[in-house]
Amino acid sequence: MNLCMIGTGYVGLVSGTCFADIGHTVYCVDKDINKIKRLNLGQSPIFEPGLDELIKENYRSKRLFFTTNISEALNKSDIIFICVGTPNKKNSLSVDLSYVLKVAKEISKFSKNKKIIVTKSTVPVGSGDLIEKHLKNKKKFTVISNPEFLREGDAVRDFRYPDRIVIGSNSPYAFKIMKNLYLPLINKGAKFFTTNRKGAELIKYASNAFLATKITFINEIANLCEQTGINVEDISLGMGSDARIGGRFLRAGPAYGGSCFPKDTKGLVSIAEKAKIDLSIVKSVIKSNEKRKFLLLKRIDYIFGKNVKNKRIVFLGVTFKPNTDDMRDAVSLFMIPHLLKRKAIVSYYDPTGEKKEFQKLNNCNFYSDVDKACKNADLIILHTEWDEFKSLNFSKISRNKKFILYDLRNLYSLAEMKRKKIKYFSIGRSNIN
Ligand code: NAD
Repeated sequence: MNLCMIGTGYVGLVSGTCFADIGHTVYCVDKDINKIKRLNLGQSPIFEPGLDELIKENYRSKRLFFTTNISEALNKSDIIFICVGTPNKKNSLSVDLSYVLKVAKEISKFSKNKKIIVTKSTVPVGSGDLIEKHLKNKKKFTVISNPEFLREGDAVRDFRYPDRIVIGSNSPYAFKIMKNLYLPLINKGAKFFTTNRKGAELIKYASNAFLATKITFINEIANLCEQTGINVEDISLGMGSDARIGGRFLRAGPAYGGSCFPKDTKGLVSIAEKAKIDLSIVKSVIKSNEKRKFLLLKRIDYIFGKNVKNKRIVFLGVTFKPNTDDMRDAVSLFMIPHLLKRKAIVSYYDPTGEKKEFQKLNNCNFYSDVDKACKNADLIILHTEWDEFKSLNFSKISRNKKFILYDLRNLYSLAEMKRKKIKYFSIGRSNIN
């Protein structure tokens, strides 16, 4: 089949490339000229393991094309995927659908014949109906919901081996076409799940809100563990071994961040408010997660005995999770400016390089390797669990000065830290002083 992905970001680029890899011809469109230029030079604009090779292979095989010309791409394609962003509106919980609706208008304006429009962007319940309203000749289009569940850092694998493919429509014809599109994945065991359009739209928000709830729950239990001398990892294991609960998303850490959970939990509350439903659980998850960021700062005060002034604080990893360069809603974006405001001296290292978000901040320096970043550190904060932080050379790091380690990901065992005589603080476990 010939497909057009509108929006070549994390979702559009990964799914477009992977669709090409299972044999479809894919036109990836973006309004960002630089992004398209880079892609046509064989450079991926994002860091995602395994993606670069797939882009190159499929581009060479002429199954994958990158363009800014939406009209041409649309008219070469049978199915059009909307993959643009759906952020929260400024200072509001509600979802900004303007990018999606703009694309709907463009599809309507440029399409010369019948098209299937598939919404892959995460959109509020009823957005499919709204998209239809923005299409001039409604009869020419079939609008389907196909929410995306890929995780950054594991996105290629998640596309190839999805837990489920969710299709929302009221038309049996739509299900047939979409089943055909995904057949290579269904043949490998992916579950093909169909529901109506609004149902599919809600499945995505409900899934993300549930996962955010699970994380927030164990984070609050970790607070309790810290006060009661219990190791939260035992609780995660003891709870997670119950098949009804499951161990995933049950590891305590910093607050959740990233491009989806913060915006989708808020989005779901706003969808519910419009329907006059009080989603009190999701609301308290949002509140607890915000509170947690302040709690982490308070703990740094406690570690230093109140004052962070002139303390050299190093962040190892600043992205919201490993194996991605995505900085959206990373906890470091909150912590670093707060520490700087209180006159700490911050440096950071991240395997995906320097971040534009910190470039203009005074006393916040990027280093291109761990040792340089950690030289003379008073406190090292393990912010993101990249593999390369799991076996740090502590004797090399402490050559110049003794440091304290604050491990937000519980990467190290208490026994090892005790043995190495490192002053160590982690999440939901006892301190080593
Ligand atoms: P992104 O910001 O990385 O990409 C969006 C792209 O759309 C950008 O490159 C932008 O230039 C482009 N764009 C915007 N308007 C356009 C237009 N009119 N024409 C052409 N291109 C246009 O966003 P993302 O992370 O890929 O997310 C996209 C959607 O997928 C969101 O709704 C998000 O919630 C959802 N989603 C994201 C993830 C994830 O892990 N990132 C996972 C599942 C679902």
